[in-house]
Amino acid sequence: MIPFSETILEWYAANGRDLPWRHTRDPYAIWLSEIILQQTRIAQGQAYWERFMAAFPNVKALASASEDEVLRLWQGLGYYSRARNLHAAARQIVELGAFPDTIEGIRRLKGVGDYTAAAIGSIAFGLPAAVVDGNVYRVLARHFGIVTPVGSTAAKKEFSELARKLLPTDRPGDFNQGMMDFGAVQCTPVSPACLLCPLADSCTALATGQVDRLPVKEKGTAVQTRRFDYIYLRFRGRTAIRRRGPGDIWQGLYEPVVREPGPRDGAGEKDLLLLRAGVKHQLTHRTLLADFYLWTPQEEPDLPEGYVWIEEAELDRYAKPRLFELLLESLPG
Ligand code: SF4
Repeated sequence: MIPFSETILEWYAANGRDLPWRHTRDPYAIWLSEIILQQTRIAQGQAYWERFMAAFPNVKALASASEDEVLRLWQGLGYYSRARNLHAAARQIVELGAFPDTIEGIRRLKGVGDYTAAAIGSIAFGLPAAVVDGNVYRVLARHFGIVTPVGSTAAKKEFSELARKLLPTDRPGDFNQGMMDFGAVQCTPVSPACLLCPLADSCTALATGQVDRLPVKEKGTAVQTRRFDYIYLRFRGRTAIRRRGPGDIWQGLYEPVVREPGPRDGAGEKDLLLLRAGVKHQLTHRTLLADFYLWTPQEEPDLPEGYVWIEEAELDRYAKPRLFELLLESLPG
């Protein structure tokens, strides 16, 4: 075996993180963990994985749940398209009759890209597919001194080919998980533990003083800012909400009355109470800035399109984005 790969496997055996989905070969449990961890830290993701496994112990249970139930359980994790895809993929699997056991088959599930397919395939079925994520880019770029900017198509090809060559075909799952953990625990983005690193003797970045410069990053996409007002309507114990449609963030979640800030004519403004201004919420390529208001009209207002009245006491039953939760926490009484 290639010495690099052997070292990673040994390191993983001694230092790998003990996580509940690592004690099973059940592809459903492993798939669920991979989808949850796509954009979530392990500490937070583990609690959600446990909740999902308790509520939906197998793929049939998940497939027969309603989308609202799945979104509610997902609430707080963000990137809700993952939850919708998870639900759709559960139905795909039930239709197939069994969890697909080839990389191509797994890749066809909704919400599964190359990385996730390789992770599930190697861990659950021992398929020889190498994962390439941020951790893997960093470890490989440093150890082998690769200066190709990550994020480019050329880098994807170069790093994937190298990872494939390094992959021990008899233990692909352990190697992939070892690489992820090694990147997360040992060869970290800032202050990697080079002094105690079992790869120190062969590490190009360490030998050439480039640890802080590798991996080379491409310039990121500019982050846009979007401003809006979030308005909680309160009229005789009821409030108004709307389910968000497709094609934008938070699809399928419920929101209060929303308006883009702009010049006002003053009509109706007297019933509005500003609760909090400039509440910031960060998404991948967007910063949201919201002002929170409480609106207590004297007479029943006409609702904007798509809104329905619900009892305030029933709000708990609806899946909401984090910002809406914050608005509810800002309400008086
Ligand atoms: S020596 Fe440092 S930079 Fe090189 S692989 Fe080890 S932790 Fe990473």
